[in-house]
Amino acid sequence: MNIAMIGAGYVGLVSGACLADFGHRVTCFDVDEQKIASLRRAEIPIFEPGLDRVVAENVTAGRLFFTHHLAEAVADADVVFIAVGTPSRRGDGFADLTFVYAAARMIAQSLSGFTVVATKSTVPIGTGDEVDRILREENPGADVAVASNPEFLREGSAIEDFKRPDRIVIGAEDDRTRELLAEVYRPLYLNDAPLVFTTRRTAELIKYAANAFLAMKITFINEIADLCERTGANVQEVARGIGLDGRIGPKFLNAGPGFGGSCFPKDTLAFAKIGQDFEAPLRLVETTIAVNDQRKRAMARKVVAACGGDVRGKRIAVLGLTFKPNTDDMRESPSIVIVQALLDAGAEVVGYDPAGIEAARSVLPPIDYADTAYKAAEEADCLVIVTEWNEFRSLDLEQLSRLMRGPVFVDLRNIYRRHEVERFGFSYFSVGRPNGA
Ligand code: NAD
Repeated sequence: MNIAMIGAGYVGLVSGACLADFGHRVTCFDVDEQKIASLRRAEIPIFEPGLDRVVAENVTAGRLFFTHHLAEAVADADVVFIAVGTPSRRGDGFADLTFVYAAARMIAQSLSGFTVVATKSTVPIGTGDEVDRILREENPGADVAVASNPEFLREGSAIEDFKRPDRIVIGAEDDRTRELLAEVYRPLYLNDAPLVFTTRRTAELIKYAANAFLAMKITFINEIADLCERTGANVQEVARGIGLDGRIGPKFLNAGPGFGGSCFPKDTLAFAKIGQDFEAPLRLVETTIAVNDQRKRAMARKVVAACGGDVRGKRIAVLGLTFKPNTDDMRESPSIVIVQALLDAGAEVVGYDPAGIEAARSVLPPIDYADTAYKAAEEADCLVIVTEWNEFRSLDLEQLSRLMRGPVFVDLRNIYRRHEVERFGFSYFSVGRPNGA
């Protein structure tokens, strides 16, 4: 099949490369000409494990193309995916649909033959109706159908997620569209990935409901962690104790500094607004947002308390800046709020991240950066693990204790055990594990 991918960001590039890997002919278009130019030079503009290989193999095989010219991508396409950003709108937090509608207007002119326009971007309920209206307004003669095909991949494991999804959701209004999209994903359901066929509006809602539920689950265990700290219980054991119940499940029950990233914060905010607009308030989602917002600054207060209540003039090494491991994405990372709050309290901060430093420089307030975890730790009074990159899981604690000036070790991801760390003279603080562990 011929596929056009509009938007070559995290979702568009990964989806485009993987669809090419299934054997389709995929042409990616992006308004960011530099992005397309670097992709044409075989440079991958984002850090995503395994993506460079899938892109290179499919370009070489003549199945994956990058273009500055939209018409080139759309004219022969059977399916045009819209995978542009839907960030929070300034001011009211609703999803900013400017890019989606602009993409629809651009696509309309180049459609030829029966084409399905499928939205992969996360969009509010009813957006497909408006995309449909725009396409018909711009090109009344076009034989086009609009579908919703929300994407569930996670940055850091995006290739694996795309190729082995828990499910594929297809929201369409007619059989011809359903059949065409089923054909796109045929290699996957031959591997047993369930296809969920539904209406466009339901598909749009599924995506928000999924993200809101996951954000709520994280926020729930974070509140339980606070209660553990007051009561002497251990949140990891609570998580295991409840997660073994099949109705709850063990995933997304790791207490930490609060959720961040390019999706959960903006999607929960947009979902809450959607609920209000439809006069069906989503109070659990609204509360999740509020609890999570407070949590990030609370994590900075935890660091200050660990340092004896005062960090003025103290040097704090922050390990892990991206919102999660295996990505260079800094969008809404908890580190942004934590670092700012530490600076507000008078600390001197030095940051290290295996892949996020370049992105961090434009997002974080001015701090020092180190190029290894050990360099960051030099002369530090306190070390804080904010993101659980693998390389932080087996730090040479002996070396760290020699390099650091102070003994405070704050593990906001619970990746160490107290006795392992305290053996080297550190005072150890984690999340929801006040005594043991
Ligand atoms: P991104 O910012 O990485 O990429 C978006 C791309 O779209 C950019 O390269 C931008 O230049 C391009 N673009 C903007 N307007 C365009 C236009 N009119 N025509 C062509 N290209 C245009 O965003 P992303 O993280 O890939 O997210 C895209 C969508 O997918 C969002 O709605 C997001 O919520 C959703 N999503 C993201 C993830 C994730 O993990 N990042 C997962 C699932 C769903």
